[in-house]
Amino acid sequence: MKKTLLVLAVLVACNALQAQDKKEYPKPGQMTHDMTEFWEPQPKIVDPGKEKGDAPSDAIVLFDGKDLSQWMSPDGTEPTWKVKNGVATVVKENGKDIRTKQEFGSCQLHLEWCTPKNITGSDQGRGNSGVYLQGMYEVQILDCYQNETYANGMVGSIYKQSAPLVNPMKKPGEWNTYDIIYTAPVFKEDGTYLYEPRVTVLLNGVLVQNNTTIHGTTEFIGLPRTVKHGDGPIILQMHGDPSEPISFRNIWIRDLR
Ligand code: MG
Repeated sequence: MKKTLLVLAVLVACNALQAQDKKEYPKPGQMTHDMTEFWEPQPKIVDPGKEKGDAPSDAIVLFDGKDLSQWMSPDGTEPTWKVKNGVATVVKENGKDIRTKQEFGSCQLHLEWCTPKNITGSDQGRGNSGVYLQGMYEVQILDCYQNETYANGMVGSIYKQSAPLVNPMKKPGEWNTYDIIYTAPVFKEDGTYLYEPRVTVLLNGVLVQNNTTIHGTTEFIGLPRTVKHGDGPIILQMHGDPSEPISFRNIWIRDLR
């Protein structure tokens, strides 16, 4: 009898220990849809405009066809390009680029440009211009309608670095559009890139650069250089090629800093 009681006591003790092993912990609650949704902050409302290419309500209009009051020559003097009938046209005789008075970093840039219907010249000598981001990195402008040149220097290229994915160029005399989304670089203290600049470019609504890394300055001769910089202007290039001058209209920018 005593033996039986002892066995029973041992069994009870074992069960108690096992019960302790089965300690229950809190279980995660049931997932519901609202656990992965956030409501604040709400993105601010932007009026996109009526027509394709219109400046959205939060854009800075850089050229609306009236004047070049947002621009100057690189030397700080008045811009020399002429404005007529809502377009700004290069004046080659003065030999000057134009640059924005304001400086920018990451941005969304829209501009429209057109080479004359009767344009002449070939290769790089045909409607050559360019748009420089932060004053450093050129997205090439060139009349490449039935005009071949080196692929990494044609329209839609990051000059001497990255050829465009395709060539959606319009005929001379027709307006082309550039929509450029640019991410400014971040530099280390020693002046090298922590993050290189990147750019996405649509030419006439067609993707030609897809988040392309820019490896430094866009040099005519030589390799890209790393030059530490901060915000910089948008520069439109006056190229010295002998072809008829290029024109611009409807230029706006959205500051993404
Ligand atoms: Mg150029």
